[in-house]
Amino acid sequence: MTKKDDITKIIDIFAEKYPQPETSLNYSNPFELLVAVILSAQTTDKQVNKVTNKLFKEYNTPEEFSRLSRQELQNKLKSVGLYRNKSKYIIETAKIIQNKHRGAIPRKLNDLMELPGVGKKTAAVFLACCSDKDTFPVDTHVYRVSKRLGLTRGQNVKEVENDLKDVIPQNHWINMHYWLINHGREVCKARNPQCDKCSLQDYCAYYTKQED
Ligand code: SF4
Repeated sequence: MTKKDDITKIIDIFAEKYPQPETSLNYSNPFELLVAVILSAQTTDKQVNKVTNKLFKEYNTPEEFSRLSRQELQNKLKSVGLYRNKSKYIIETAKIIQNKHRGAIPRKLNDLMELPGVGKKTAAVFLACCSDKDTFPVDTHVYRVSKRLGLTRGQNVKEVENDLKDVIPQNHWINMHYWLINHGREVCKARNPQCDKCSLQDYCAYYTKQED
């Protein structure tokens, strides 16, 4: 596993390379964020933004979404993967927030996970975006890059999340979540990690092993 000093270096390098770590999903209120995160499952943030830029001009509250028919919403979401299921989840989620939570989105992980279409990862991403300091969501980029760097030897999402929470200082959890995603998208890609362009070579277990 990565040494403490190396983790400090990794944090410094990420902070310099990605000075404003945040979600690339566009939103202007917490419900828009929740809808965008639901839509982002198996769809790129870019595609989600394209759709929500129009959608949120027409509807952007639980009340407005709860009044939509499934067909109406499906027509607006057609270019998003799994749009039929996502339309159903968003309307049901809007109704539950409206009726059970008086229009306010719950901020506890377990309450969020009771909403249709909101699994642990979606809930954790939502909470991370809302600056909840107790979450460290692990998506495919976080999983891959943290393992390559040697921050974890976990064999599943839960183990990776627990390891990251152990080795990364808590005040950096949210930033590190976004840094690992950015780095996974731009440099440490799934098939061809661009190690020759990566400033983390000296602290990366995967790179060091290749060089041995
Ligand atoms: S050195 Fe290569 S494997 Fe390591 S983080 Fe950078 S791109 Fe990924």
